[in-house]
Amino acid sequence: MDPRKRMDVLAAELLRHQHRYYVLARPEISDAEYDRLLDELVELEKRYPQYAGPNSPSRRVGSDLDGSFPERPHAVPVLSLDKLYEARQAAQWLRKTADACGNDPGFTVEEKIDGASIVLYYEHGELQHALTRGNGLAGNDVSDNVRTIGQVPLRIAEPGALAVRGEIYITRDDFVRFNAGLAEKYANPRNLAAGSLRNLKSSLTARVPLNIFAYEGFFAGAARDHLEVLARLRDLGFRVNPQLGFFCDSGPRRQRAQALFPEAYSAPLAGVEDYLRRLGDARAGVPYDIDGLVLKLADLELRQELGFTAHHPRWAMAYKFEAPQARSELLDVLVQVGRNGRVTPVALLRPVRLSGSTVTRATLHNQDYIDMLELGIGDQVAISRRGDVIPAVDEVLEKSATGPTVYRLPELCPFCASRLVREGAHHFCRNGSCPERQRRALGYFCAREQMDIESLGEKTIAFLYEKGWLRTIPDIYSFDYSRLEGVEGYKERKIARIRAAVEKSKEQPFARVLAALGFEGLAAAVAAALIAHGFDDIDRIIATAARGDWEAFAAVEGIGEATARQLVDHFSSAANLELIARLRSAGLRFRTEGPPAGRIDDSFAGQVWVITGSLEKFNPRSLAADEIRRRGGRVADSVTSRTSHLLAGANAGSKLAKAEKLKIQVVSESEFQELLQRG
Ligand SMILES: [Zn+2]
Repeated sequence: MDPRKRMDVLAAELLRHQHRYYVLARPEISDAEYDRLLDELVELEKRYPQYAGPNSPSRRVGSDLDGSFPERPHAVPVLSLDKLYEARQAAQWLRKTADACGNDPGFTVEEKIDGASIVLYYEHGELQHALTRGNGLAGNDVSDNVRTIGQVPLRIAEPGALAVRGEIYITRDDFVRFNAGLAEKYANPRNLAAGSLRNLKSSLTARVPLNIFAYEGFFAGAARDHLEVLARLRDLGFRVNPQLGFFCDSGPRRQRAQALFPEAYSAPLAGVEDYLRRLGDARAGVPYDIDGLVLKLADLELRQELGFTAHHPRWAMAYKFEAPQARSELLDVLVQVGRNGRVTPVALLRPVRLSGSTVTRATLHNQDYIDMLELGIGDQVAISRRGDVIPAVDEVLEKSATGPTVYRLPELCPFCASRLVREGAHHFCRNGSCPERQRRALGYFCAREQMDIESLGEKTIAFLYEKGWLRTIPDIYSFDYSRLEGVEGYKERKIARIRAAVEKSKEQPFARVLAALGFEGLAAAVAAALIAHGFDDIDRIIATAARGDWEAFAAVEGIGEATARQLVDHFSSAANLELIARLRSAGLRFRTEGPPAGRIDDSFAGQVWVITGSLEKFNPRSLAADEIRRRGGRVADSVTSRTSHLLAGANAGSKLAKAEKLKIQVVSESEFQELLQRG
């Protein structure tokens, strides 16, 4: 067969099978057979790339090439819906609208899914573009990512132009599973769905178990009503939510609705309030997040007659289940720079009351998050407090009529004007002498959680920095605080307090000092883990880093490869070594006191031990750990392929089983004693 014809046949077959599998959940062929057809097509597309269309079923697997998201105008503006929060009000709106129309109009009630809105544009039966909502007039073209979603039809039997609106979402179960494997977690299913549409590599999006429901279609040829539109979409292969309510006082129209959608619930208008309540109560049982229900006039001609307000269609209304959110406006974005140079955009909001306090700021994380929200200055936004105290911007409710569509971070650091560098999801100021970074490093060092030099608060540090008296951390210990005498606001008692606090901080244990250095990735928990696993002396840490031995750090429970490599970098950098040397000569503690004292020999050098079960002689087990460390060995918490020995006491459990599986040497308590004596 002509290869081009064969490719057409394969593509048509595969798209049909994808529809049966993803949309209907009724596959006709086995996965293996499907893979065989797909492999054949991919093979042919490699040989004849000129015949491979943008909507080939092979596009489902995505690409590893970086894409971009050019902005495109929407053919039909995407307006937001007006909202109500009470079922009774929603029922009243329905009755009022029905009376205004006359002649027993029908209304649909659909789930308002908490996902990412998308508009799919088809022409000549092919998916042309998939655009995000954007500012409603134009959105970002995320077609390549959307093509990877199996439920999105790539080709349809509709020759005319068609725009389809839908919601892309992920179920709660899938969210929990998928999020668990991510280094940077998403706060909720909606953010994951929206973020996935903005992956630069579509192959990443292909891995996310995304779903779509289509809920609106704009056909070139006229359709009579919304039910007909939904039925046509369903017949073209789109996934239409079967959870559908139809309310109308005309019996024959309700019968017609039932004929089109046998699964729909239909009743006279009087039944709507009860229906809204019932669905609201049952929403926890729905496998995906819904934040409300959408009531729409079904008759398309009547919709045209009712028209729009400046912001909303008059023929639709969102009934939101509750109002835990507050509405505010994004006044500006504050660009913060942390001690490690990381740039954090912070939303400055029109003050608004939210669960008992006034909110004026919310974190925006990074540029990706802003892009995902499609957030710009002047936009009306929904903010919430999730479980804890930090307010978050959840979504854009209404775009500002003027101004840029989406806020962009500045290219230069606002504090030192050096060029910001993007690494991963974040931007960084890489200038080590950036004044803001230095002030932050000083503040972090003095904070209660670290060295607890409380009298050197943010204001005092800023003042001393301004004067040029305090620039780097060692300055805290070398500065002559008597120079503050006579300075306004610095009475004798205050100066004495600062001196005393600085002096007292020299007593802080090594773990605190280590974390207070403020090195990226070296949080308090990491410092504690290092020390607990034998890195109880700065010289040992520096020597390990000098050898480039990140694996020794990674052998510590709780330290991953990325952090281990960072530690090697931190403790071999000349600037950091000088910092440590200066603090050491100032009298700060750079090793832990007490056991394990005294090195015995190197008989356990290079060994990584794990201790499990209960020991008789070495009780607590830290006694055994001390013996191992005194002989140059390391002790870790969990059994991995790097473990060399397992010391197993009585009632050893899963660690013993794992060690046996990995064929790691298992040592009993008595054998351990022999090893110690042998030396
Ligand atoms: Zn800077």
